This record gives sequence, C-alpha cells and structure tokens, in this order.
Amino acid sequence: MKIVCLDLEGVLVPEIWIEFAERAGVPELRRTTRDEPDYDTLMRYRLDILAQQSLGLPQIQEVISTMAPMDGARAFLDALREDYQVVILSDTFYEFAHPLMRQLGWPTLFCHSLEADEAGRVVNYHLRMPDQKREAVRRFKELNFTVVAAGDSYNDTAMLGEAHGGILFHPPENVIREFPQYPVTNDYAALRAEIDAAFARA
Ligand SMILES: [Mg+2]
Repeated sequence: MKIVCLDLEGVLVPEIWIEFAERAGVPELRRTTRDEPDYDTLMRYRLDILAQQSLGLPQIQEVISTMAPMDGARAFLDALREDYQVVILSDTFYEFAHPLMRQLGWPTLFCHSLEADEAGRVVNYHLRMPDQKREAVRRFKELNFTVVAAGDSYNDTAMLGEAHGGILFHPPENVIREFPQYPVTNDYAALRAEIDAAFARA
C-alpha cells in the first residue's frame, strides 16, 4: 500500500503565478512569497491587481490554458500511476490548476480554492487547511500507506519530513544546502529511480 505525494509547481508544471504574469502581460503579478512573506497580504495584493486589470476567472483560465506541463511530465506521471497511487499536494488553487490538470490526465489534486462572484471576478481565496501538505501525509500514514514525497522548495520540506522517504526535484541551491538529508534529482528518470529506491528502503 504505497502512495507517492508530489508537489505540482516546479515538479510537473511551471510556477503558475509567474508564468501567468508573463503571459497576461501583468509584471506586478510576479511578486511571490520571497518578496512579500505574509501570504494573506500577498494574496490580497494579487486579487487587487486582478480586479484592476479586469482579469476574472474566465480570462485567467484562458491564459492558463495556453500553458503546458513540463516536458516529460505527463509520461512520468502516467508511468508512476501504473505502479503507485499518486496524490498531488499543492498550494495552488483548483481554478488555476484546472487547465493544466486536463493536460496531465486528471490526477488527484489536493489544493486550495478561489471564490468568484457571478461576473467571474475573484473576490476571495480559501486555504483548505493550514499546513495541508504535511497533514495529508500524516493522514495517509494513519491509513497504513507507506508514503514517499517529492517537491522542489521550502513549502514541501514539512511534507518530505513527514513522509517515509523525501526527495527534492530541481531545488534551488539554498534548499539543497539547508536540507542535505534529502536526495536531489534533476530529471524524471532520476526522480523515478529515487522513488523506487525510497520505497525499497521504507
Ligand atoms: Mg513547488
């Protein structure tokens, strides 16, 4: 009984806000938690910019539908799902991820949600629960699953630590330095080999 928990952005698809900012031509939306550490302040800022630019959910999804998963992501995921249960644990929003999940063959995704009004304007956001990546792994373990998790950044490290095996994929240098306990992979073949090895050890 094995589950692989994967991060989404930076592992299977590009960083959605950054890519969206470029495609929509709204550079102000490139701001991330590195520029504004308070998440609620950052999200209020983003929602204000979307409103100013008259970008409602239909326009946002149209832009995102021109985005694609990373090269090889779909084949990696399909092969992984033949051998393991796979759940994607992400801090994105269902409404953002939707056009990309279609291209990934609708894998299971646990993330957050946006609230839109009747005109499609994004008026609020709802985090499903605090620290959801780690909480999900913890609950899978309670259900007697062996869990291997992979992600690329700080918001994944709690999940990697909670899992029986944790793997970094394409991480930035500072994450590699601060979390030397996790093996580092940089392509899907290496990630798959580490996943198999982590289950063999667990
Ligand atoms: Mg990520």
